[in-house]
Amino acid sequence: MTKYIFVTGGVLSSLGKGITSSSIATLLKHSGLNVGILKIDPYINVDPGTMSPLEHGEVFVTYDGAETDLDIGHYERFLNVDFSFKNNFTTGQVYLSVIDRERKGGYLGKTIQVIPHIVDEIKHRIKLAGEGKDILVVELGGTVGDIEGLPFLEAMREMKHEYGINRIISMHVTLIPLIRAAGELKTKPTQHSVQELRRIGITPQIIITRSEKEIPTELKNKLAMSCDVDYDCVIGAQDAKSIYQMPINFLKEGVLVPIARFLKLPELKPDMKAWDLLVKQILAPQQEVNIAFVGKYLNLKESYKSLIEALIHAGANLDTQVNIQWIDSEELEKNEEMLQKLKYVNGILVPGGFGERGIEGKMKAIQFAREQGIVFFGICLGMQLAILEFCRNVLGIKEANSMEFNPNTHEAVIYLIENFINQSGEKQIRTHTSPMGGTMRLGEYECTLKEGSKLQKAYKNQKLIKERHRHRYEANPKYQAMLEKKGMMISGKCNGLIEAIELKNHPWFVAVQFHPEFTSRLQAPNLAILEFIKQALYAKSYK
Ligand code: GLN
Repeated sequence: MTKYIFVTGGVLSSLGKGITSSSIATLLKHSGLNVGILKIDPYINVDPGTMSPLEHGEVFVTYDGAETDLDIGHYERFLNVDFSFKNNFTTGQVYLSVIDRERKGGYLGKTIQVIPHIVDEIKHRIKLAGEGKDILVVELGGTVGDIEGLPFLEAMREMKHEYGINRIISMHVTLIPLIRAAGELKTKPTQHSVQELRRIGITPQIIITRSEKEIPTELKNKLAMSCDVDYDCVIGAQDAKSIYQMPINFLKEGVLVPIARFLKLPELKPDMKAWDLLVKQILAPQQEVNIAFVGKYLNLKESYKSLIEALIHAGANLDTQVNIQWIDSEELEKNEEMLQKLKYVNGILVPGGFGERGIEGKMKAIQFAREQGIVFFGICLGMQLAILEFCRNVLGIKEANSMEFNPNTHEAVIYLIENFINQSGEKQIRTHTSPMGGTMRLGEYECTLKEGSKLQKAYKNQKLIKERHRHRYEANPKYQAMLEKKGMMISGKCNGLIEAIELKNHPWFVAVQFHPEFTSRLQAPNLAILEFIKQALYAKSYK
């Protein structure tokens, strides 16, 4: 008998509904409940896989290879649970399956309509995500009042009708703006958005009020009266320094009291001790380390969300503040002085990416790290470029290239996964064909680590690890012997594919084909990223 907490947003977007949902779910999990969480996106795209990172931010990849909204990343980071394709769906997916069923005659000649057919499909998917859970937190993307969000609100209304009030809570996240000139917090937009919800038959029971300043009790009481909720149901969500403070802030605001009352649960007493300590170490760390982050799209850091969070996790667990120095790879191409600045950082990070823009700058940073003995970590494209740089500047293969940048290159050091499969005859590798026709590796794959490698040490001497992928290109094993001869070790493999490299004569120069950031959680930081920060700290200590 799963119970449901629906989280809607009012007034405007980007209010932190994802963080609110994750925080509430975290408190419930730490109270001993089996909690699931689901994000529903009202856009028509089937998934964000084909959207530009400038448009949508990061595409988060689940272990089972779903390309999902970045909020799923927050869910995993907060809850320390692996979610799957079932934990995110879009309007596009709902319509696709209804139309597909209609084409196959699944509706026996009926006229297909938003109500009941689309709404039934939505309810089916919500129930599927809730299967086996005590509580499912359902986050509805968008803002109340959006046309495309209506079928989802209708699904929620109908579920309340079906299941009764003890199994469903409606929680509304809204903004209480501060009018600076008057120094006043304003409740009117919230009243309007609650009215809008009530107009379509939904009465929110708990109101989460996002604001810059603390909301005084009188104002909360006024809101409770005007929005017709209990006095203990107006919960403050004041801006915080770290998103990881939010579960603790919500607990202090007493959010679990009405949740337990409405859902007929015994008193909820979450154990947040370990969490609390990590948050303290984020807010007041003992030491700091400087990391150069060499990427593009730096104006939109949302596209590196998981990696930025993974650095925070590593920092929290090492009681260290990780200062990120954003280095625009295109700038680095033109500006020699900027390259020299890299001397003063404790570690250089080259993240994943697509396309040719900025790659020469990234390679300059890689060469600098290699030649100057600076701690280096490369991820996905970062590993491909580390191999290219080595081929060009150490092995002297000047033409060395990736087929991503030159499909006709004669020295295809990085080539398509299809080339690997055709040449090696390897049948074991699971691939995914994208709607645009590209073949990719997506989701979790095993990686065998080389005995005695730095990477194996980072992973606590495990022989076999699992990490997630999202890429089309692979390092060509034809070059392996040449790389090894000159000191580049292949430290990770999967069915003959090169998954990780490192340099023998360097303090710590490691790069991986997978995306370690997707498995990093506050309470379980990714071990490769943790080791990178540890090594940067160590480098700082003897500088
Ligand atoms: N563009 C590269 C590829 O598709 C790397 C992708 C990535 O960094 N995620 O293989």
